[in-house]
Order: sequence, then structure tokens, then C-alpha cells
Amino acid sequence: MIGLIGGMSWESSAEYYRILNQGVRDRLGPTASARCLLWSFDFSEIERLQHDGDWNRLTARMIDAARRLETGGADMLLICTNTMHRMAEAVQNAVSVPLLHIADPTAQRIRKAGLKRIGLLGTAFTMEHDFYKGRLRDVHGLDVVVPDEHDRAVVHRIIYDELVAGKVVSASRDAYRQIIARLVADGAEAVILGCTEIMLLVKPEDSPVPLFDTTALHAEAAIAMALEGHIQPRP
Ligand code: GLU
Repeated sequence: MIGLIGGMSWESSAEYYRILNQGVRDRLGPTASARCLLWSFDFSEIERLQHDGDWNRLTARMIDAARRLETGGADMLLICTNTMHRMAEAVQNAVSVPLLHIADPTAQRIRKAGLKRIGLLGTAFTMEHDFYKGRLRDVHGLDVVVPDEHDRAVVHRIIYDELVAGKVVSASRDAYRQIIARLVADGAEAVILGCTEIMLLVKPEDSPVPLFDTTALHAEAAIAMALEGHIQPRP
């Protein structure tokens, strides 16, 4: 049973749910679907705490959700957002089931493609703090480039003002295209869509280099983990 800590935002949790179920159907047959439990936050509260910098309270919220999912029978956990992996270690330490870190399947796929210098798009928290870039660099040996300050503010604003609210605006797609082009000019061989809503706006044709969509890679890795016996289902 896959436990999902979601609602951050529900626009991307819906995508996780679709990919998990589609993946199980593709592997196990037309009526098969994913055994999962979803804890879905009210994102307005999460967003307020993020922008207040109240990471202690957010960590407590995430641990509470993880424990509820574990108690409900989850054998493994996914945090369905890149940003909230800031407290991934604290969440993992609070439960006894494995937490599949979103950066790991993403980085593994990038390494497999033989790429090393990678652009990163996400919230300001993801692009600027070390919890995410540091893992890509120190655990996976990637060389990470982020947009400049102005472009980071544009990427962040579009996520919080539009994408989490389900708004897909073509002028914003153009802005992302230009920012991706600048990352490529800065040497990026590929770009990580390091926010689970970006794939709603940006598609492979919007980029001259490969895009690595963390939502799809995370959900697909969860299916592999659940179905290929890397975890022991709880009795
Ligand atoms: N879903 C986004 C992410 O992957 C942003 C929402 C959030 O801050 O959790 O980072």
C-alpha cells in the first residue's frame, strides 16, 4: 500500500493518482489499480507557513501525516512535492516504513542518460536552499545550475499564483521557455522540472534539451518499488 502525503497542491496529487493507477493497470491488467492512501493537506495553510518560514510547524504537520498513513497501513511513503522534501529526513526518522525521496529516481534517470550538468526549476525554496541541490550534488554527483535571481522569482511566482491554482497561462509558458533557454546557455544538458506542477505548463517541445519531470519519475519509481518487491507488504 502506497501512502501519499499530498494536496501540495492537489493539482499535482491528482496527477500522481492518475500515474500510479495507470502504471498498475499497464502492468497487471485493465481492472487492476493501485492500492494507496492519500493524506491531502489544505495547501493554503501549507503555503502560508512556507512563506512565514515556519518550517518547524510544517515539519510537525508532515510527521503527523506520515504517521497517520503508516497507522492506516501504508508500506511506503511518498511526499508529493519537491519543496516539502526539505523535511524528508525528519519524516523518515519518524516512521518505520521507507520514504522514497523524489530526487533519487530523478537523479538516477539523469545519470543513466549520461548527463551531469543539470538545470533546476522549482519553488524558490527548492532552487535556493541546499536540501535538494545538495542531495543531487552530494549523493548523485550532479552539477546543478539554477536561474538567476530575477528568473527564480518569475518561476516561483508562476507556481504559486497560477499552477497550484490550476491556471495554465501561455505567457507563462513563454517565460519558462526563455528561462530554460538561458539555463541551456549556462551549460545545462537537461532540466529538472523540480516542482510537481510544472509539467502542467511545460512539455518536452518547450525545451531544446531533455526535461526530467519529477512527478512522473517519482510515481513510476513508487510503482516499481511496490510491485517489484523492494518493500515487504505489512501483514
Ligand atoms: N508542488 C510544488 C513542489 O513540488 C510546490 C508546492 C509546495 O510548495 O509544496 O515543490
